[in-house]
Amino acid sequence: MKNLKIAIQKSGRLNEKSVQLLKNCGLNFENYKSSLITTVSNFPLEILFLRDDDIPEYVQDGIADLGIVGENVIAETEADVRYLQRLGFGKCTLKIAIPNQSEARTLADLDGKAIATSYPTILKKFLDENGVSADIRIISGSVEISPALELSDAIFDIVSTGGTLRSNGLKPFADVMASEAILISKNGIDSNPVVRELMQRIQSVLRAAE
Ligand code: ATP
Ligand code: ZN
Repeated sequence: MKNLKIAIQKSGRLNEKSVQLLKNCGLNFENYKSSLITTVSNFPLEILFLRDDDIPEYVQDGIADLGIVGENVIAETEADVRYLQRLGFGKCTLKIAIPNQSEARTLADLDGKAIATSYPTILKKFLDENGVSADIRIISGSVEISPALELSDAIFDIVSTGGTLRSNGLKPFADVMASEAILISKNGIDSNPVVRELMQRIQSVLRAAE
């Protein structure tokens, strides 16, 4: 039988904790920074190191059987995958923020305004649900500076401590989504005995950390 594959982030905020979780499950592997794929020596599993944005679709399409990725990325890609386990790390909140001097008070005040974000799908869904029609401007990075550059009236982005907002003269306006790292699988694979064994190990690592 072919080894299962799990996709984790190659580098970034989820990489270290994803690697640590798998090591705590007793999996032995080299964490080569330069390679895309590594084999676990004592478990029938291969690890793919990818950009987080690609993980939901790789799992949906069956290129990887499992993945560890932020819930925000799953929601943004709208990939059809199964949530196996919430992992308790990579916690953050996606918020709409506005300039300190903004007079916006309610969501309706965003009607007709421009909102900059790297998460247009999640934002659009939230605005639609609330009957707000705003102009979504897609920006891939440094979203927080766009109001100061007069590119937008508000932003929608990941906020953890709020420090980045403050240093850019912004304040939180609305919480849209809470996110944490999730173990996902392709639909229908969770009855696989190797997946079950890995799930049991992950759950006991999580319980031990409580
Ligand atoms: P990649 O190079 O893989 O595309 P990235 O730059 O898109 O990485 P990171 O900044 O490493 O992504 O964040 C990965 C995930 O970590 C986010 O999608 C989110 O789920 C989570 N996260 C937790 N806290 C934060 C935070 N303060 N800022 C950004 N992401 C956070
Ligand atoms: Zn990314």
